[in-house]
Parts: sequence; structure tokens; C-alpha cells
Amino acid sequence: MIAVFRKLLTFEEAQKVILEHVDPKPLGFEEIPLLEATGRVLAQNITADRNIPPFNRSTVDGYAVKAQDTSGAEENRPNTLRACGAVHIGEEPKVIIGRKEAAEIVTGAPIPEGADAVVMVEHTERTGDNVRIFSAVARNANIMKAGADIKKGETVLRSGRVLGSREIGVLAALGIAKVKVYKVPRVSVLSTGAEVTEPGRKLAPGKIYDINAYSLNAAVVESGGRPIYLGVFPDDLAELQKALKLALASADVVLTSGGVSVGPKDVMPKAVASLGKPGIILSGVAIKPGKPTTIGLIEGRPVFSLPGHPTSALLVFDLLVRPVIQMMAGRSPEEREEVKAVAGARMFSTKGRKTFVMVTLKRNTSNRMVAEPVETGDSGAIMTLAKADGFVEIPENLQFVDSDEEIVVHLWRKKMQETVRSR
Ligand code: AMP
Ligand code: MG
Repeated sequence: MIAVFRKLLTFEEAQKVILEHVDPKPLGFEEIPLLEATGRVLAQNITADRNIPPFNRSTVDGYAVKAQDTSGAEENRPNTLRACGAVHIGEEPKVIIGRKEAAEIVTGAPIPEGADAVVMVEHTERTGDNVRIFSAVARNANIMKAGADIKKGETVLRSGRVLGSREIGVLAALGIAKVKVYKVPRVSVLSTGAEVTEPGRKLAPGKIYDINAYSLNAAVVESGGRPIYLGVFPDDLAELQKALKLALASADVVLTSGGVSVGPKDVMPKAVASLGKPGIILSGVAIKPGKPTTIGLIEGRPVFSLPGHPTSALLVFDLLVRPVIQMMAGRSPEEREEVKAVAGARMFSTKGRKTFVMVTLKRNTSNRMVAEPVETGDSGAIMTLAKADGFVEIPENLQFVDSDEEIVVHLWRKKMQETVRSR
């Protein structure tokens, strides 16, 4: 039988237990094609093996010249040079520019030998072999030097960098077609409860749709993991043992929700404990919401059993599971962005538990940021999270934060800060 009165760890103790026992580390690396690398984490430093651009190139359409031959040229007093051919883009120049000579050139084409500047076509006029120059240019005008973008030997990206469109552009610039990235942690996700129905199915009386497996699936992806959706299982010891065995066999981390409270049907902790050593490493945390959170470790693989309430499940994921998945994925656990605000209303904590209050942010007439608690305080409501811009942490030893008190709001998303700024 599971003990009803469990000793709760503080939030900080829970974080420590997870780091010590689970010891999250990258799972190794693999080499993959650049086109498949979006969202993956670089497992090598990238040092440029060449200059980019590889050659001096023109940044305009016009004429490659010696700058000194344009000296003194003005709108009504042009210098006349002799056209000596053209530089074609994508080829090595076949012309050499001599004194008083000009070669046609287009944007991106290599600067030919002898030239040290380019005159924009708008400042020239061509008649037969004569090129009239209406504006003097200085040396290096309209030339992008070799290595001006990336210098040979420069470290352009470091291990641990998440590859997005900008990073992939840098790798492509260097001609890199394959990259070494960290392996993606696989995370089995399953839900529990006789009332829980998969979205897409008909909802029978007394049933609700499965929120957690779906929101957690998304949260796993956002953290750099690969979710494996296993479905909904009944609160039955044998069934859960079977499901968990499958979950452990196919993933590096297991995420469950529901069945961790103290009701007669809450058999998840027992099921987890029965699967191997060391078993349960954490059983209850002094936080609200999220108190019944249970964590097991089975032959080195963590099993995070989150409470069934959708808001609790997702918040606990964010606080305790996300950093683990990020570290296994080779990312550094993201620090949440914070903003200072004043409390728009009194916010109460639950005695002896660190309380997380979801808030929305807006500016008042004197341009101060005000945090208003999201109406429904019930951790069962998914909209509580969807509406919130962030949350306020009230320490376990405080009874409440008073209206108008200065507080720190932890933002849900980085983007949120921009949203708030522009409101
Ligand atoms: P439990 O932790 O299993 O006692 O569940 C607590 C509450 O969360 C109950 O109201 C459940 O119906 C609800 N719940 C549990 N699992 C899910 C789920 N996957 N999706 C939506 N609600 C759930
Ligand atoms: Mg349940």
C-alpha cells in the first residue's frame, strides 16, 4: 500500500534529487544531412576552413576600374575610360584592367586583376568603346572583400547551438552538407484514467478528452526531445506495468500523467516502483499545483509521473522535466525570462508549499507593468495556462503577496516579452 502521508520535498530539494539521480547528459551524437538539421543541437564547433566570400566581389552592377582613373569626375565633367571587356558572374575574370580601362561587371562577380573599385552603372554612360564616368570612386568602393562575411579560421558556431534557419545558412555558406548533432532523447508519453478519451473519438457520457498526452507531446518537442505517444491506459496495476515496460523499452525518458494522488485508483507509483531499481526517487513535492508529482528511476531511465490536472502536468513538466530533456538533448536548460511588475491583486499561497500563480501582464496608465492573476485558480483548467503570460512564485513561508507589491513574473515564452512590450 502506498503511504498516504508522504514526506514532501521542497522544490529546490526536488531539483537536486533529479540532478543527482537522473544525472541528465547528452546521449551521444550522429552525423546528419544539413537539410534535416532544423531544431537539432550542434555537437561540434564549426571553424571556417575558407574565406566567405572566397574572392573580392562587386556589390553593384557597373564598371570595374582603377579608382585613380575616376579622380575628379563629376556630373558635368566626366572622365572617359576605354571599355576592355566584361566580367561574367560565376567565372574567373578573363580581363585585366589597365590604366584608363573599365570592364563591365555585375553584382556578385569577382573583381578582375588591376581593378580596385567599381563605379555604379547609374554613374556611367557607354557609347561604343567609351565609358564616361560621372562620379569619382575611392579605392575599394563597391567591393566586398574576401573573408568580409566569414574569415578563414574563425569559429562561427559552437557546440550546443540549436540549429535554426540562420545557423543553417552559415553552415551552407561554408559548403557543409553534413553536421554532427546530439542524439534526440526519445520520450514515451502516456495518459491514465477510465474517463480519458483520445481526441478524434466520440466522447461518451462522463468522459473527457486527453489533454495531457497532447500538451506534453508538444512540450517534449519544444524541449528538443522526440515524443512517442503510447495512448491512454486504465488505472490498473497490471495494465500500467505492461504499458510502462513498453514505454521504457522504447524510450530514454517516460512521461505519464494522472493516477499519482492518494485515491484508491492511483496506482501509478506502485506500478513504477515494481519495474526495477532504484524505483521511486521522489514522491511528492511541496509545490502548488503539482504536489503529487512522483519520479522513478528504472535502470538509469527516469519515469516522470505527473499529476492528472492539465495545468499541473504542464507546469511540473516545465519546472522539473524540461531541463532534463534539454540537457539530454545537448541544450543548456533555458533560463526563463523575467519581468518586474506590481501585483494587480492580492495573491495567496498555500501553506507550506511554493505556490505558482498564473498571471497576465499589462501596462497601467502610469506605464507600470501590472500582473493580474488569471481568474480560475483551479489547476484542472487548461485555459489557466493558455491565458497566462507567465507566473509568479510565492515562497512557502509567505502567506500572500499584497496588491501593489513589486513581484517578479517568469514569462512562459521568450516571445511573450515582445508581446508584452508592444502592448
Ligand atoms: P488524477 O491525477 O488521475 O486524479 O486526475 C486529476 C484530474 O485530472 C481529474 O479530473 C482527471 O479527469 C484529470 N485528468 C487526468 N488525466 C487527464 C488527461 N490526460 N487529460 C485531461 N484531464 C486529465
Ligand atoms: Mg486519474
